[in-house]
Amino acid sequence: STLVSLDHVSKVFANGVAALGHFDLHVREGDFISLLGPSGCGKSTVLRLIAGLTEPTSGSVSWPGCNEADHRSEIGFVFQEPTLMPWADVADNVWLPLRLRGVSRWEARERIAESLALVGLKDFAKAYPRELSGGMKMRVSIARALSVKPRLLLMDEPFAALDEITRFKLNDDLLTLQSELNCTVVFVTHSVYESAYLSNRIAVLTPRPGRVIAEIAGVPVQERG
Ligand code: ADP
Ligand code: ADP
Repeated sequence: STLVSLDHVSKVFANGVAALGHFDLHVREGDFISLLGPSGCGKSTVLRLIAGLTEPTSGSVSWPGCNEADHRSEIGFVFQEPTLMPWADVADNVWLPLRLRGVSRWEARERIAESLALVGLKDFAKAYPRELSGGMKMRVSIARALSVKPRLLLMDEPFAALDEITRFKLNDDLLTLQSELNCTVVFVTHSVYESAYLSNRIAVLTPRPGRVIAEIAGVPVQERG
C-alpha cells in the first residue's frame, strides 16, 4: 500500500530557482527507493517535502489512509553529515529525537541501547563523537534516526563522505537493518552503483527541472526471496 504520495509537485524557491516541476513519486510500504541524479536536481528537496520541512509550491504531498501528523512522527532523517553534538556522548546524541518528543533520558534508555545495537555500536554509548571514525559517526547518526522506530527512513547521501570499504560495509548493514526493522527507505544518492545495489526502485531525476525521467521497479523488501 502507498505510504506517501507526491503528485504533480513543483517547488520554486523564493530566489526563483525551480527545484522540481511536475514531480510524481508514490512510496509504497517496504520500498527501498533510491533518488538518483546529479547535484542540484532536487533530490534533497524531495526528502524535505516528505518530511514536511518545506511545502510544495503546487501539487500535493499526501499520506493516504493515515493522519499526516502521525506519519511525520514516525520519520527518521539521516543527513549527509552526521551532525552529532560534540559535547554530548553517543547515547545522548541518539536520545535527541526522543527528547524532542518529550521522552526522558530514563524512559529512552532501552531504545537508545537497541538502536546502538542495531548499528553495531552497543559498546560505544559513553564515547564522544571525536573518538569515533567517520563510519562510526555515520552509524551513530543512523542509530539516532532509528531511535524513534521510524516507519519511514529518509537518507540524504548518507555515505557520500566515506571511503569505499566503509561505504560497502554500511550498504550491507543498511539492507540487513531494513529487513529486520521492516521499514520503508527513501535514499538519495548520485551513485548508480549504490542505487542498483540497495534499492528495489530507482527514480532517476534530470538536472532541470527535476523530473523523473525513468523509474526502474523491482519488488519491495518483504517480497524478496
Ligand atoms: P540535490 O539534492 O539533488 O543536490 P537540492 O534539492 O538540494 O538538489 O536542490 C535543488 C535546486 O534547488 C538546486 O539548484 C539548489 O541550489 C536549489 N535550492 C535548494 N534549496 C534552496 C533554498 N532553500 N533556496 C533556494 N534555492 C534552493
Ligand atoms: P567503520 O568502518 O565503522 O568506520 P573503522 O573501519 O574506522 O570503522 O574502524 C574499524 C573498527 O575499529 C570499528 O568497527 C571499531 O570497532 C574499531 N574502532 C574504530 N575507532 C575506534 C575507537 N576510537 N575506539 C575503539 N575502537 C574503535
